[in-house]
Amino acid sequence: MASHSTTTADLGFAQMLRAHGLRATAQRRAIYSVFADAARADASNAHLSAEEVFQQARVQLPELSRATVYNALGELAEAGLLGLVEGPGPRRFDANVSAHHHFRCRICQELQDVELDSVEVTLRERGFQVESSHVMLEGLCPGCAARPSPAGA
Ligand SMILES: [Zn+2]
Ligand SMILES: [Zn+2]
Repeated sequence: MASHSTTTADLGFAQMLRAHGLRATAQRRAIYSVFADAARADASNAHLSAEEVFQQARVQLPELSRATVYNALGELAEAGLLGLVEGPGPRRFDANVSAHHHFRCRICQELQDVELDSVEVTLRERGFQVESSHVMLEGLCPGCAARPSPAGA
């Protein structure tokens, strides 16, 4: 059933999945495209909870079940096609799979990608082998910092 013309982006997606032993099903495609859309809107801010992915992917593919979305997200993360950011709050899936760190706003819980390469470079220069790093900076995003805090909070 090829109702859509195949684009190079689709081919890239199919190849990428095949390279990880996964088939490019309509479900996985719909789920991954949610991240592609989010990354297009704001590449450094494409961090979605499974529930958010479910709500958005269902617009494209109404027959998607929550279980299918949750399973597919797990597969894509396991294959290294999506990053994982653990809570507080719901675990987020990250469209950016290159090594990076995060800033979390404590009001809106939004994550922002940040680069802290200098820390790792400094450690490497001192002979440390950094194998993984997950730095979480927390505070207020510009939007929340500009908003007056609610009375009594
Ligand atoms: Zn915020
Ligand atoms: Zn990220």
